Amino acid sequence: MNGRSRRYAVAGSPVRHSLSPRIHTLFAQQTGVPLEYGLLEPDNDDFESAAGSFFSDGGSGLSVTSPYKARALNLAYELSAEARAAGAANTLARARDGRISACNTDGPGLVIDLRKRLGYEVEGGGVLVLGAGGAAAGILGAILLAKPRSVAIANRTLRRAEALAGRFAGRAEECGVQLRAVGLSDLDTGCGHNLVVQATSAPAGGDLPLDTEILAAADIVYDLRYGERAEPFLRAAKRAGAARTADGLGMLVEQAALSFAYWERVKPATEPVYEALRETHSFLPAP
Ligand code: NDP
Repeated sequence: MNGRSRRYAVAGSPVRHSLSPRIHTLFAQQTGVPLEYGLLEPDNDDFESAAGSFFSDGGSGLSVTSPYKARALNLAYELSAEARAAGAANTLARARDGRISACNTDGPGLVIDLRKRLGYEVEGGGVLVLGAGGAAAGILGAILLAKPRSVAIANRTLRRAEALAGRFAGRAEECGVQLRAVGLSDLDTGCGHNLVVQATSAPAGGDLPLDTEILAAADIVYDLRYGERAEPFLRAAKRAGAARTADGLGMLVEQAALSFAYWERVKPATEPVYEALRETHSFLPAP
């Protein structure tokens, strides 16, 4: 390692195809921060010891992705409000005294992408979140803080949606948002959602058990996945009549920029990095 570089990595399984090393290397070039950014792919039983060794060997920070986001919380001495609410962290940082802190930049990354790149304001609208897993939990807090009129969490397994709505009931009340849980197949077409967020891990080509007419009235349908994995769902949304669609590449870049700022106290510009990824990865067609 270069004497001045700080060392970072993305931890998950699998991470071989992660865009995070490219994104953070572009941020480093742009801001002049000397850093090395690698991959950490521990087996399921080894996440805690691999992350622990990374930090004790001098690593400065980790991006954490599936399936380790919830377990990442247990490594941290200090949690941000977002990480606590989500029950998961996507960013770990080591302070000078060796203590680890954790935050979750996924939700703020989504809201920034909607607002800045797509020009969409969540405030006052109706939001439908499809899915009630880790990704949905990671974005809900930030969506509620953006003060929509209402949020419906629709999941194949209703009790998971109910549990998630229960966890965020306090924040919804503080923010003045009506929050409810519903079964995916019980959604009705007249409920007027302005923003629909696809946050399930359903296979890209497989149909969700959902009447696509629900997507017809949406101002914007956003899939947290990106590129070809998001394409079939976004195509179905367009066919149903959704005004606009977007994949999650912008969120990926924005959450990474927030993590970079959490580590290095400097906020990189995201648009050039977003454009560079769209240009160089032909498998990431613009939605
Ligand atoms: P989880 O395993 O925690 O949850 C999976 C969710 O998908 C559950 O709600 C599950 O429903 C639902 N689901 C799975 N298969 C189906 C199906 N066939 N039909 C209907 N619902 C289904 O996964 P995550 O929440 O961690 O990840 C979800 C997606 O979000 C992933 O594709 C991930 O790549 C993406 N993501 C993108 C990010 C970005 O930066 N752009 C950040 C984080 C995640 P049930 O409860 O009924 O099983």
